[in-house]
Amino acid sequence: MKLKRICLACGKSITGRIDKKYCDHYCKSAYHYDRTRNEEPRFYNKVDNQLKLNRKLLKEYNKAGKATVRSQVLLEMGFNPNFFTHYWKNSKGDVYLFVYEFGFLKRIENGKAKYVLVKWQEYMNKAK
Ligand SMILES: [Zn+2]
Repeated sequence: MKLKRICLACGKSITGRIDKKYCDHYCKSAYHYDRTRNEEPRFYNKVDNQLKLNRKLLKEYNKAGKATVRSQVLLEMGFNPNFFTHYWKNSKGDVYLFVYEFGFLKRIENGKAKYVLVKWQEYMNKAK
């Protein structure tokens, strides 16, 4: 019995060596190019996209430079507090997490989880 072999890239039948998987090297590189393109976005891209979304949301809800917003509102928009770029600790020991120039601090007010939103200030640059 003769096995019919088909090119993985274009689907045409292949003649030649038994272990051949593609018509030629064009089909081979086309197939590999497609595979790479369709792969899950790499971890770097996922983190990058989440940071961009976080920054966009913090910016949108903090037009005045300081604001308080219910955490649920941000979370529903896709905000993920686990992704941030750096932090700043104030003199009281509160740790503000920052996504680039926009910071947030989780706080419970009247039993509701909220985020206090701030903007990065020059004096925060001082490393402690
Ligand atoms: Zn082919």
